[in-house]
Amino acid sequence: MNDKNEKSINEFDFNLICNYFSSIDRQGPGSEEMTKLAISYIKGLSPNSKIADLGCGTGGQTITLAQNTPAQIVALDLFPTFVDKLKSRLETLNLSNRVNAIIGSMDELPFTNDEFDMIWSEGAIYNIGFQHGLEYWHRFIKTGGYVAVTEASWLTENRPSEIANFWTDAYPEIDTISNKVKHLQSAGYIPIATFVLPEECWTDCYYVPQKKAQEIFLRNHAGNATAKELVDNMRHEADLYSKYKHYYGYVFYIGKKV
Ligand code: SAM
Repeated sequence: MNDKNEKSINEFDFNLICNYFSSIDRQGPGSEEMTKLAISYIKGLSPNSKIADLGCGTGGQTITLAQNTPAQIVALDLFPTFVDKLKSRLETLNLSNRVNAIIGSMDELPFTNDEFDMIWSEGAIYNIGFQHGLEYWHRFIKTGGYVAVTEASWLTENRPSEIANFWTDAYPEIDTISNKVKHLQSAGYIPIATFVLPEECWTDCYYVPQKKAQEIFLRNHAGNATAKELVDNMRHEADLYSKYKHYYGYVFYIGKKV
């Protein structure tokens, strides 16, 4: 908790969080267009290639990966509710033969060394930390394979204290793009590309769909103080984004294992 008694999203009851987020297509900022842009930097994928999508949520980016690469995909998330939702989306889209959605933790992967041509993770590596995640996942990627992640990053060298304090409390590992690239390099990857996700990834693709979801969620949990607090926090987060969007954002980091 920070000094205003605001909770970070990670402090809420997991069932409530799953319930809230499973009603929307994405659980973090991002877009189909930006996933496709990141895919355009990846060379040499074939039908024999294997991709792991870690912290896949309900699979916004998993579906884009399946539709825009020829590879086999394993999509992994800690929460069964999200994995179930992804499974039913895959059935509907006829993609179940290309994507295996499984429950698991990104810091204890049930994979073998050098198993993957690429590890993908949008808005999720923060759960185990950027540097630790990149170092730990390195062993599961073939030499010459790729890692592609999005991560909250500072876009400027200095920022107002309100937003600096919010992020220091929510995710102390937030850092500038140049420092993140250093971590990528020191974890054993050649930096291939970095780009900042545009504003629509936060607004149209993330905060706007939540508005309707919030009304339904509050109706379904009428009288539940924790549910109201969760919605208040998400609204506060959206307000902060609108006020301070020039200072921080999500950045795609793409690296190649050497
Ligand atoms: N990639 C999705 C997207 O961009 O829409 C979801 C991003 S959401 C911000 C973070 C995801 O990480 C959630 O789906 C959450 O369940 C998952 N997660 C949290 N801790 C995890 C862990 N230890 N292992 C695997 N997934 C985890």
